[in-house]
Amino acid sequence: MIIILKPIATKKDADEIIAQIEGLGLKPLYMPGVERTVLGAIGDERVLAGLHLESHPLVERITPILTPYKMVSRDIHPENTVVDIGNVPVGGKPFVVIAGPCAVETREQMIATALAVKEAGAHCLRGGAFKPRSSPYSFQGLGVKGLRILKEAGQKTGLSVTTEVVEAGDVPIVEPYADALQVGARNMQNFRLLTKLGQCRKPVILKRGMAATVEDLLLAAEYIVAEGNPNVILCERGIRTFETATRNTLDLNAIPFLKQKSHLPVIVDPSHGTGIRDYVAPMAKAAAACGADGLLIEVHINPKEALSDGQQSLYPEQFSRLMKELKPFVKAAGRELTT
Ligand code: PEP
Ligand code: MN
Repeated sequence: MIIILKPIATKKDADEIIAQIEGLGLKPLYMPGVERTVLGAIGDERVLAGLHLESHPLVERITPILTPYKMVSRDIHPENTVVDIGNVPVGGKPFVVIAGPCAVETREQMIATALAVKEAGAHCLRGGAFKPRSSPYSFQGLGVKGLRILKEAGQKTGLSVTTEVVEAGDVPIVEPYADALQVGARNMQNFRLLTKLGQCRKPVILKRGMAATVEDLLLAAEYIVAEGNPNVILCERGIRTFETATRNTLDLNAIPFLKQKSHLPVIVDPSHGTGIRDYVAPMAKAAAACGADGLLIEVHINPKEALSDGQQSLYPEQFSRLMKELKPFVKAAGRELTT
């Protein structure tokens, strides 16, 4: 429920109502604004009826939050949320590009790729150390050794780093090495993992499951935010459809939808979204044009030799060209790309 207070209500008045909401076992939200303060009450809304807030002298209006997700809804938080990956803000005016290999393979591969993406103007570095692969026979990642290499590559280039965490028990292992933790498509509804990530402070890049609706994605984000971590970045990475020409179908409808319904930043992964190197740049531009806050792109120093996702990884020179070509699209969408 959203409770809009009258302009004359003071902080003390708001605190009194918050205490009453808490007393009912509901989760209160306090959102001071320039003109008036807005409060939220999350939980079983029938319980709130007992407070008769509609007749409270300092309450202007009460409106129910009609969406199944609450804390991630724009209804309750009209301004965009900006999430910092290290020193890189995501969700504000600057358009953010996160780039790097699918997986950390060797120190040489990771550092060479990191230097190349930095040179091209990327803002953050990616690299998987724990890889959730569709086949148990595929390369599963270097684990903690990979995390150490990734961190070193981040330090060498000054780039903030993101990497995937595949299970709840691994969160304390991965957290110290990364500026943001990625939840992969195969784990979007691993609710124990989401809850665990809700208890940590690091930002979470939550990728849409390949068979998940956008509402499922927002509800998955709600698990993290409701548990106490407001730093969630949503990522559209393509879904399974009847189309087999590409690895996935990149659902760009999701971008304006998510931006309208939620205050969380939204980025796009055209690498997994298409699965085909040649289609990454056009879809990256399309994502920028339709209002995404940033991109997650796979780049490999030598894609032919990549241990995972080589066919969709850009060569460094292709990535460098893309960074230049993206600029007019980013500008047209009212954003800024600094390289
Ligand atoms: C990845 O980013 O390398 C990855 C495994 O992505 P997804 O979870 O979207 O398949
Ligand atoms: Mn990959």
